[in-house]
Amino acid sequence: MEANKPNEGVLTACRGKCGYSPTIIVPGIGQSKVSRLDENGNRMKNEAPPGINFPVCFRPRALAMALAWPVLKMIFTRKDNGFTDRASKAVGACLSPSAAGPDGKPVNHLQAEKYPKSAARCTQDERAFIYSCIPLAEASKEAGDDHIYFLGYNSFGNNLETAAELYEMIQLVKRETGHGKVNIVPISLGGTIAVSLLNFYPQVKNDLDKIVFVVPGLNGTKFFADIYNGNFNTDEVFYRKSIISSAKGFKGRLVKIALWLVPKGVFVDLLRKTFDEVRNILLLNSTVMWGSVPCEDYEALADKLLSDEAHKEIRRQTDLFHEGQANMRANILKFAESGVRIFDIVDYNYPIHTFVNASKKYNGDGWVNIESASLGAASGCIDTPLPVGYIQQNTRCTNPAHSHISPDGIVDASTGILPETTFYFRNQNHELTAENDVIIKLVSELLLHDEIKDVFSRPEQFPQFNNSRATGNLRNTLLPKAASVERGKLSAEDSAELQAAVAECEAMLAETVVDTERSVRAEESLKKILAKIGSLK
Ligand SMILES: [Zn+2]
Ligand SMILES: [Zn+2]
Repeated sequence: MEANKPNEGVLTACRGKCGYSPTIIVPGIGQSKVSRLDENGNRMKNEAPPGINFPVCFRPRALAMALAWPVLKMIFTRKDNGFTDRASKAVGACLSPSAAGPDGKPVNHLQAEKYPKSAARCTQDERAFIYSCIPLAEASKEAGDDHIYFLGYNSFGNNLETAAELYEMIQLVKRETGHGKVNIVPISLGGTIAVSLLNFYPQVKNDLDKIVFVVPGLNGTKFFADIYNGNFNTDEVFYRKSIISSAKGFKGRLVKIALWLVPKGVFVDLLRKTFDEVRNILLLNSTVMWGSVPCEDYEALADKLLSDEAHKEIRRQTDLFHEGQANMRANILKFAESGVRIFDIVDYNYPIHTFVNASKKYNGDGWVNIESASLGAASGCIDTPLPVGYIQQNTRCTNPAHSHISPDGIVDASTGILPETTFYFRNQNHELTAENDVIIKLVSELLLHDEIKDVFSRPEQFPQFNNSRATGNLRNTLLPKAASVERGKLSAEDSAELQAAVAECEAMLAETVVDTERSVRAEESLKKILAKIGSLK
C-alpha cells in the first residue's frame, strides 16, 4: 500500500542525484480525462465513449438520433420549423453536465483524473495516456519514468485552483524524487495555468530548473476572443464549401445532398445559436477558459459578459487572472533572471480556424496566434512577409549581431519575450505539434541536457526557424510494418525498392532541419512499395 502514501520520502532510485531534473507536464485543452460521478463517487455509465475526454457526456450518436427527425422535417418543408432551436439546445444538453456555475465550480460532481505519482507508478494505461498527450516516452528512458509527472485538470474548470494544484505538485515531485528543482512543460492551454503559477506563487522560482513552453497560449488566443465575442464568419458559402470539401465516402455524399437542401440562412442561424449555447454553458463560468482571452481583449469582454451580480465571483477571479496575464512578461523575465532556464516552442504560418474572423488578421497555428505563444513576436499574416524595408526591432535582443528574422521574412523573433530561446516551426498545425518528431526531440533535448542554451547553440541541428512535418504514422505504423516484411519472399526488385524507401525514411528522420516536402516524399515512397507488396491496403 506504499503507493497510497506518496509523501513518505524519496521514491526514486537516484535519490535526487542523477542530474536529470524531474518534469511535470501541464497538458492542453481536452488532454485530461474528466468524468461525472454519481452520489457514491462512481463514474456514471452511458457517458462519453472512451477516447472523448471532454465534454463528459458527449455522445455523438445520441445527438445524431435526437436530431434526425427535426433535420428531415426542416429539409422537406424547406423551413427552419424550430430546427435551429432544437439542434442548438440538443448540443447544449450534451454540454451542460460539464458546465461550471457562477461560483466558478462545476455544477455536477466532475472529476479530472489525477496522477499524484510519477509515470513509473502509473498503470500501463495511465502511462500510455500521458505519453499520448506528449510522446516523451523515448526521452524518459534516459531519466526514467519516475522523473515524469502529469497534471490532470478540467479544461473547463477553475484556473486558480488548477494553478494551486500545480504548485502543490511541484512540492510533491521534489519530495518524491529527492531533486531540489523541477522542470515544467506547459502545453497550449497549460500556458494559462503557468501564467497564474508565476504570478501568484513567485517563490516557485526557487523550485524550478527549466520551463519549456510548447505552443503556449500565454496571452490567450485571438480565436477565443472571437468565440467569447460571438465574432465569427457568417458567410454561408464558406461553410457549404468547407463542409462539402471535407465530406467523404457514403456518409459524406449524404451530407452533400442534405446540404443542397438546407434552406438559406438556416446554417448561419444554427451556428449563431450553437455558439451561444457553447459560450453560455462551457465558457462563461470557466475561469480556465477565460484564461484563453487575450489581455487586451479581456476588459471589454468581461464588462460585456460578467458585469451582472450573478457573475460577481467569476469576475473577481478572472480579474485576478488578468493581473497575472498583464504581469506575464515581467514575471518571465524575473524568473529568467533568478536562474530559471526558460524555452518556448512556437508554431506559425498555419491559418487560424477560418470560422472566426481573427483568421483574416493574425498569423498563428490554427488555434494560438503567434503573438501569444511567443509573447510579442511581430509577424506578417499567413504567407505575408513583414513590410518591405522592415528593420529587426531588437525590442528584446540586445546583441546587434543577431539575426532573428525568419528566412521567409514573416517573423521578427527579436520582439518576442525570449528571442534567444524561442524556436519557431513554420506551417506547423497546433494540433499536430506532437506528430512533429523534431519538436519532440528538441523538447526532450532541452529537458534532459544543458548543451542547448539558446537558438545559437546548435543551429545546424536545431535552428531558431524550422519547418513542419507529421511523422507519427510513418514512425508508429509504416516503418514497423516494413520491418516485419519477410524480405526473402519478395522479388529482388521489390526488396531493393523497400530497402531504399526505408533507408530514405530513416535518413529523413535523422535530419532535424526539416524539409517538409522531403518528409512527405519519403513517406509516400514507403507507402507505395508497401502497397505494391500487399502489406498496405
Ligand atoms: Zn534523478
Ligand atoms: Zn538575439
